[in-house]
Parts: sequence; structure tokens; C-alpha cells
Amino acid sequence: MRLWTMVPSGGDVFETRYGYNRYKFDLANHSCTCNLWMLSGIPCVHSQAAINYVHKDLSEFISSWFHKDKYVATYSQNIQPIGGSNLWPMTEFIKPLPPPARRMSGRPKVNRVKHASESEDVTRTVRCGKCQQLGHNNISCTNAEVPKPPIPKRKIGRPRKDGGGQPIFDPFPPVEPAIPRSDAALPIVSECGD
Ligand SMILES: [Zn+2]
Ligand SMILES: [Zn+2]
Repeated sequence: MRLWTMVPSGGDVFETRYGYNRYKFDLANHSCTCNLWMLSGIPCVHSQAAINYVHKDLSEFISSWFHKDKYVATYSQNIQPIGGSNLWPMTEFIKPLPPPARRMSGRPKVNRVKHASESEDVTRTVRCGKCQQLGHNNISCTNAEVPKPPIPKRKIGRPRKDGGGQPIFDPFPPVEPAIPRSDAALPIVSECGD
């Protein structure tokens, strides 16, 4: 702000200069040729320099739309009820259509994405660490202490089709008897007619 040089042009009209930049503004009209003051309602840096130059209060030049009484007036009225969507007039324009479906990359999802309200009610049952019974914990337990059953060892990796057993090497595998196929002796019937 201090870098801008003020050139009073009579009345409330000023020119401000900084290098090759020159702006004309009017403090009475709240306007500057940089247009920022009119757009925002808040004095631009050029007019702020001029307001300081004439020793005036900057808040006097801020648009009245930023004042408290305008804010209070905006919300002073009640919001009128508009009724339900069954009372709204039907439009004569075509209904908006969804965009065309596009095949996305990756494997398509199989399970439907569930809404948060659809999640199953997971009711957890506590097991007592003292008597190993369900429905209460060891703080409220009145039963006798029972040793904890050992946790079964988890198998690591993919479950095998043969149950995980090692294949036994049989040096003499059973030979399948050669049964003649019942359809082998049938004559070949061509479906192509002549
Ligand atoms: Zn300006
Ligand atoms: Zn218990």
C-alpha cells in the first residue's frame, strides 16, 4: 500500500501510480479502474492506499452488504413452507437419463454394496475367562475356575483337496480292466443325407 503514489485529481477522484501501473478511482462512487472494488464490495489495494492518504476509516468504504443490519434483515423473515413433492407441478421436459453404462477396469464386483443401515446385527457373546462359560465375564463370575481349553492349531495355507495328506507311493498301481466300450461296436451313422 505504501508503494502506491497518490495523485489527487480534485474532489474524491485520485490516480494511483506504481511503476507503469496507474489506476483511477473515485472514493465517492466506490469504484476503481481495476474493477476489484466493484466486484467484491471491499476496497482494492489502490483505494485502500487512497483512504489512508485522506485519513478516513476503511470500514466506511466497505459495501453495506457486509454490514450486520443487512445480515439481520436477510434472516428476519420466516421461511415459508413449500409443500410436498406431490404438489409440485410436472415439467414438460424429458426426464433426465443416466449416463451410458461403461465397463470399468478390473473384475466386476459380485456382492452388492450394502448401505450402513443394512449391516447385520452382530451380537457378540462373551465367554468367561474363569469358568469358560458363555454369557458373563470373569469379573461377575461366581463359578469355579476351569482350565482354558487349548486353542487348536491353525493350518497355514490353502486347504488341500486330498485333505493335506502326503500321497503314498504305490509301486504296483491297480491296472484298470480293459472293458470294451459299448458304443464302440455301433456303426457310424452319418447325419449328412444325400
Ligand atoms: Zn483498484
Ligand atoms: Zn464364569
